[in-house]
Amino acid sequence: MIPNTETRATMPAASNAAQVKRFDAVVIGGGPAGSTAALRLAEAGYSTALVERGGRIKPCGGAIPPRLIQDFAIPGHLLKATISSARMIAPSGKTVDMPIDGGFVGMVDREEFDEWLRERAVSRGVTRITAMFDGLEPAFGEDRQIRIKTKLGEIQTLSARLVIGADGARSAVARAALPNQKQPKSVFAYHEIVDSKGCSSEPASARANRCDVFYQGAISPDFYGWIFPHGETVSIGTGTAKKGYGLRKAVGDLRFASGYGGAKTVRREGAPIPLKPMKRWDDGRNVIVAGDAAGVVAPASGEGIYYAMESARMVADAGIAFLANGDARELAKARKLFMGDHGKIFLVLELLQTVWYRSDWLRERFVSICRDPDVQRLTWESYMHKRMSKASPTAHARILWQNLGHYLGWRTA
Ligand SMILES: Cc1cc2nc3c(=O)[nH]c(=O)nc-3n(C[C@H](O)[C@H](O)[C@H](O)COP(=O)(O)OP(=O)(O)OC[C@H]3O[C@@H](n4cnc5c(N)ncnc54)[C@H](O)[C@@H]3O)c2cc1C
Repeated sequence: MIPNTETRATMPAASNAAQVKRFDAVVIGGGPAGSTAALRLAEAGYSTALVERGGRIKPCGGAIPPRLIQDFAIPGHLLKATISSARMIAPSGKTVDMPIDGGFVGMVDREEFDEWLRERAVSRGVTRITAMFDGLEPAFGEDRQIRIKTKLGEIQTLSARLVIGADGARSAVARAALPNQKQPKSVFAYHEIVDSKGCSSEPASARANRCDVFYQGAISPDFYGWIFPHGETVSIGTGTAKKGYGLRKAVGDLRFASGYGGAKTVRREGAPIPLKPMKRWDDGRNVIVAGDAAGVVAPASGEGIYYAMESARMVADAGIAFLANGDARELAKARKLFMGDHGKIFLVLELLQTVWYRSDWLRERFVSICRDPDVQRLTWESYMHKRMSKASPTAHARILWQNLGHYLGWRTA
């Protein structure tokens, strides 16, 4: 295809063809979404570049479900801990333990996990480039031009028929390619990684396989706080959508209250978590986003690793169809497929967060509901297997009745 004159006039970098590296697909961002998409494209035989800026460990609690481990062939050595129970803590301090029957939650260290995913992609033919995405140039024929900036500050141009933005929350690719899309609503999450041996209230072994989840307004006014064990270290964090909320103080209080006040701090870090899938993921031509860049993190739980990889798989498959037949309408199928498979659970979780995370009175009741064995079973089955679990109609009716009772105050905690 011959580029139009407007395109030629704005293409000084591309006119020097020797300096433009050409690929079938360029993926921006080497987190779980980017590595998954790049791997799939390379395995389908397309030349693929993975552009990752590097130099930063993704702030993350690192909890992953068995479904992810199975679907994306994650080796056991990447699991730093396996969780067999969650302790829910109400505003009053009352606790409800939720043992996992016949399953577990895996805990990964994102420094190691992300690097392993990137290197697996490289081992299957992906070209890894350490650089920062710097912008998109207008299309040149069928190709899109991607400006990247190397660590030395040098600007380079890549060219590809397909561009995937997997550059995380507040994605620069989404802002460049989908300027009319509203950025998804998000919470800001902050956590501290501390030495697990430094807990003064319980031996590290007592906490090694248990997640603590704090539903307390003092820890988060609209989300929750957590203590997730990672073997040698522990992630202690919280999040909120409220601007100016004292997250550092909340985590400091949580550390103190749970016996980690004096434990050695390994890292302090925070990042936004988008909690709503964007209405559109592609630009109708040749750019599409996946993972946090597309806003696909589960509301209420903030679980994003599985959904990042799952959305990336669908985006890569849509990209493969597009590369094969040149029909840009293929790209829109990724979001449709994702929402078909996971839209219902996102809706339920959004409702749950809206209803129960609003006040300590409601949070107290929410934790109470978690005592119910059917609620526990349904919660763990949906989390572990990523499908809405089926329960007997009586169990559903009882859970609904209980929810209503707690919400309207007929039942006490
Ligand atoms: C504190 C916290 C705790 C969390 N805990 C959990 C949890 O326990 N379990 C869970 O499932 N989810 C959790 N999440 C959410 C989860 O981390 C994300 O949903 C997930 O990492 C999304 O993956 P991604 O690949 O889409 O994006 P990211 O993991 O954010 O990866 C994006 C990648 O793009 C790179 N990048 C960004 N901009 C550029 C650029 N301009 N050029 C080149 N590269 C770029 C980044 O360096 C990064 O490697 C948590 C999030 C936070 C903030």
